[in-house]
Amino acid sequence: MFGFKKQILGLKESLEDRDSQIRDLERQAASLRRVLASMAEGVIILDKDTRIISLNSSAEKIFGISEKEVLGKLFLAVVPNNDISELISKVLNKREFVSQELTLVWPIQRTFQVNASLIPEEDGAINRCLLVIHDISEIRRLEKVRSDFVANVSHEIKTPLTSIKGFVETLLEGALEDKENAKHFLNIIQDHANRLDNLVSDLLSLSFLESKEIVLEKQKVDLGRLASDILSGFRSQLRKKSIEIRNELPSGLSITADRDKLGQVFTNLIDNAVKFNREKGIIRIYSQDLDNKVKLIVEDNGLGIPVKDIPRIFERFYRVDKARSHEMGGTGLGLSIVKHIIELHDGTVGVESTEGIGSKFFFILPRG
Ligand code: ADP
Repeated sequence: MFGFKKQILGLKESLEDRDSQIRDLERQAASLRRVLASMAEGVIILDKDTRIISLNSSAEKIFGISEKEVLGKLFLAVVPNNDISELISKVLNKREFVSQELTLVWPIQRTFQVNASLIPEEDGAINRCLLVIHDISEIRRLEKVRSDFVANVSHEIKTPLTSIKGFVETLLEGALEDKENAKHFLNIIQDHANRLDNLVSDLLSLSFLESKEIVLEKQKVDLGRLASDILSGFRSQLRKKSIEIRNELPSGLSITADRDKLGQVFTNLIDNAVKFNREKGIIRIYSQDLDNKVKLIVEDNGLGIPVKDIPRIFERFYRVDKARSHEMGGTGLGLSIVKHIIELHDGTVGVESTEGIGSKFFFILPRG
């Protein structure tokens, strides 16, 4: 009788042991599911017939599918993409790790680095395949921005440099003796050298603004006074084009900002409002109160900007009329410098413009 009781107790203990092992396994499985769910990479596990065994939420998002609907289905039936299917076949047939960059155009165009490997079971058999999908669209986009930038800068430098070389050569080949022409050529060389100088200054400003070390020297800035200080540097340009300036900023309107950098913003916006204005045009500088922010507007009644160009106007080197911008000594970097400076101040920039009527460039800054 006593022995039987002992047997029962032993059985109970081993059942309890088994229960606790099952609970441990469940805990481990739940923890693994949580790890997969929190991964930024898409993870998909397939069986050797390429049926979907499991996938995480990032994979659901990437392919616009839901785990409930696709479990047990063939991968190609769920994601009709031949490139990934070929990759999976390669892994399953060749039994080796494969990594490949793929561009998917559906559901949205993105670039992925897809790593596919086999999952060996305890007994060494291979019944499952693991896909890890990294979204590298942003990396590729930034690489393109960088290479476009280098191409743009090289092009911007090459054009004036070619002209300078050409005119120097002409002068050396005899044009120097022809006083009248020589002066004309030297003026052209000077224009191009100035363009290069402006370009290098703007590039240096941009790279400084983009560098991590940049520190804003914030102080109380009276906006009306700053605008009028900057405007005094434009007197001769304004006079040449008979442009009327209206600084309507109220006295005492001030914010906390880096005075020099904000001065650069006014300089670039006013410079454009003059350059792209007509004879006898008008430029207004005024403000609007927005709760704890202030909106500053530089308005001109000049050429305006075609609707199609507006979304790209703050991009580096983007110009509506390249030849005109060159003629005016523009670098195509002025507005991107403005955008950088305002964003460093936690502000936003924008433009409203109608071709042939004029433009309102504005920035909104916290009063701070
Ligand atoms: P840049 O003036 O050196 O060409 P910006 O970055 O300052 O370069 O300006 C980019 C382009 O935006 C200009 O080439 C011009 O086409 C357009 N633009 C800027 N400001 C104005 C304005 N006030 N009116 C019309 N077009 C403008």
